[in-house]
Amino acid sequence: MSTVARVCVLGPSGRMGKALLDAARDRADLCISSTADQGDDLALAFAACDVYIDFTTPDSTRAAAELAAARGVPAVIGTTGLGADATRAIAALAERAPVIVSANFSLGVNLLLGLARTASRALGPEWDAEVVETHHKLKRDAPSGTALAIARAIAAGRGVDYDSVKRHARDGDIGPRAAGEIGVSSVRGGDIIGEHVAYFFGGAERIELAHRATSRSIFATGALRAAAWLVGKPAGSYTMQSVLGFEP
Ligand code: NAD
Repeated sequence: MSTVARVCVLGPSGRMGKALLDAARDRADLCISSTADQGDDLALAFAACDVYIDFTTPDSTRAAAELAAARGVPAVIGTTGLGADATRAIAALAERAPVIVSANFSLGVNLLLGLARTASRALGPEWDAEVVETHHKLKRDAPSGTALAIARAIAAGRGVDYDSVKRHARDGDIGPRAAGEIGVSSVRGGDIIGEHVAYFFGGAERIELAHRATSRSIFATGALRAAAWLVGKPAGSYTMQSVLGFEP
């Protein structure tokens, strides 16, 4: 293994791909050794790298994970809206190489996840919890992966199964809010990079935990840090919380 981590970036012409290439110029501990966009030879791109970073599409992420599993290539995966097939392929890859999948690579958001969990644990289900996310109009999936991660952190703080309390849309005569449910709403428009607010509504007071991103560079910086951290680790699934030293 080289001391300077050799990184392969998938989707270099995409918004995140460009941000990764920009952010990598400032780092001495890694270099971009290859890139692969749609139609390029992925096997060739994987041949000379220690780790790859994937912010593309669920189909592309599945295909890349399958090839990486065959070759034991470590992976940093930021693609959101992953379906069952991509998730299965990533699980298989994690048996062969170290992998980090995160819906949001920013340090601030990862702190927010911890705060939401702590607040939820302290306040309990009597406080109505809602998550609102806002993104640019080109974003395809909803709710955002980060909003779901926050909602899951709130459920974990209460010790409940998220799927049994989630509420992703409200429309029509749906009656009063069910006790204990955790709502997630999506707003789309303009060029918003990403905003997430976790609300906790009490009887006559409310808490708002908010994170607002103003540049894509925060995701790129976090993903590059994760890539450098991942090289040399044993096979398995890791989290950004581990990269940041929040958990062992
Ligand atoms: P984008 O549409 O600008 O870029 C996607 C790129 O993927 C394009 O360059 C496209 O050519 C490429 N691509 C498609 N199929 C490919 C294939 N088979 N092989 C290689 N490349 C392929 O999208 P974006 O805004 O850069 O976002 C990409 C993904 O990253 C989305 O799922 C988005 O939600 C997610 N995202 C995650 C985070 C995070 O922190 N986890 C942050 C921002 C965006």
